Amino acid sequence: MYCPFCRNPDSRVVDSRMADDGSAIRRRRQCPECGRRFTTVETTSLSVIKRSGVGEPFSRSKVINGVRKACQGRPVSEDDLAMLAQEVEEQIRASGAAEIDAHEVGLVILGPLQKLDKVAYLRFASVYQAFESLEDFETAIALLRHEAEEDAKGASSGAKSSEKTPL
Ligand SMILES: [Zn+2]
Repeated sequence: MYCPFCRNPDSRVVDSRMADDGSAIRRRRQCPECGRRFTTVETTSLSVIKRSGVGEPFSRSKVINGVRKACQGRPVSEDDLAMLAQEVEEQIRASGAAEIDAHEVGLVILGPLQKLDKVAYLRFASVYQAFESLEDFETAIALLRHEAEEDAKGASSGAKSSEKTPL
């Protein structure tokens, strides 16, 4: 990498540290020619391939903008959205892939969004999983109910017995 000040093709690393919870490394470099310092950031490359076939760098703010509409009127804070976007990025990076289709990003969002808010999840899922009928909604709601009951079973063993709606 060229020195941004004098274009000298060599530089020396004077300090490197983890950034963004370990998903990036920030290096402080010094140019041996002009003596000035600059910073580089190293991350694994992660591109999102849009429907048009064009790739763009993964962006947490795009994830947040994508789910914000589904969260309208719901008790979801900006912090919740930021944490969701971080979880989405971590899940995708953990797969080790350098590229991911925009549509698949939407599918990855479904997991953390379901934990965050069921209504927002259903709104978002109806778009990303292309719900076409009431049956699709019914199936998704039945799955949510089933999971909620499984959770309740685990949580209420011993403690208070929760009332269950008969199916
Ligand atoms: Zn220089």
